Amino acid sequence: MADFQDSCIIVKTIMYCDLHTHTTASDGSDTPDDLVRKAAETGLSAIAVTDHDTVAGLPEAVACGPEYHVEIIPGLELSVLAETGNMHILGYFIDPEAEYLKKILKKVQAARAERNPRILELLTDLGRPLTMNDLEEIAHGGQIGRPHIARTMLRKGYVRNIGEAFARYLKKGAPAYAPKSVLSPEEAIRTIHRAGGLAVLAHPFSLGPGRPADLEKTTAELAALGLDGMECYYSEHSREFTRQCLTLCGKYGLVVTGGSDYHGRAKPHIRLGTGRGNLRIPYRCVEELRARKTGSDVGQAGSAR
Ligand code: AMP
Ligand code: ZN
Ligand code: FE
Ligand code: FE
Repeated sequence: MADFQDSCIIVKTIMYCDLHTHTTASDGSDTPDDLVRKAAETGLSAIAVTDHDTVAGLPEAVACGPEYHVEIIPGLELSVLAETGNMHILGYFIDPEAEYLKKILKKVQAARAERNPRILELLTDLGRPLTMNDLEEIAHGGQIGRPHIARTMLRKGYVRNIGEAFARYLKKGAPAYAPKSVLSPEEAIRTIHRAGGLAVLAHPFSLGPGRPADLEKTTAELAALGLDGMECYYSEHSREFTRQCLTLCGKYGLVVTGGSDYHGRAKPHIRLGTGRGNLRIPYRCVEELRARKTGSDVGQAGSAR
């Protein structure tokens, strides 16, 4: 005979979140308001708004949260200097008004503003001229980044798709690449902490196709600098790579997080909440981040509710 538990139908609502999204404040195509509305339509309980090197989209996103019943975690994504690949560090629960953060953002935004004309010069030399006006038109007042350059190249018929623009011209090592990062990982983590936030390594796969030992070395170094978490759940991560990240989180006491890196039309293959379709990020990640912030304990990292 079935015991009591077997005969009960247990209805449990699982809550999900997406801790990596972009808006028109940087290189996403949705306004903060549209993003929050879509999060509600998608059934997400919480999202973190994490624009590149800017907090300009946060006031609108935070103001829209209650209307759509979506919890908004104020965040950002800082680009930092890395020996190999691309290193991005996410900040969560930051105070966008923190003076030190504002000062650092001014510095990184100035570096971006200097970099765009350099990329345009290189593209002109390669016979692919674009103007700053072209970029401003496509960015609608948001901070200009390489995806805007790629989209403009596509509009002008220089490339067949965004991927080709990066592969042939814009990616690190390509002929129109110009570096922009001015922050060391240490400065980025310090800046986030001084704004009251938590620092999380974004999409570890982008550090490059190194050996597992290389990722561990980087994780150990960042953990020693005060890193709080790692974005283990990410569409580009294989099951095996995700497991590797989860193991490192356990070993170095990091919070497990995840995000789609949603950019709207700027990355049409990535969907809010589910990425390439294979992502599900438990709300538990938010609880664990919050517990880390307040110094309390909610149990094992990353386990689904
Ligand atoms: P930036 O902030 O100007 O350095 O540009 C970074 C943005 O470019 C991020 O949103 C990346 O996801 C995007 N990006 C980098 N590589 C590629 C690629 N191969 N295809 C499409 N987008 C890319
Ligand atoms: Zn982006
Ligand atoms: Fe990133
Ligand atoms: Fe991102």
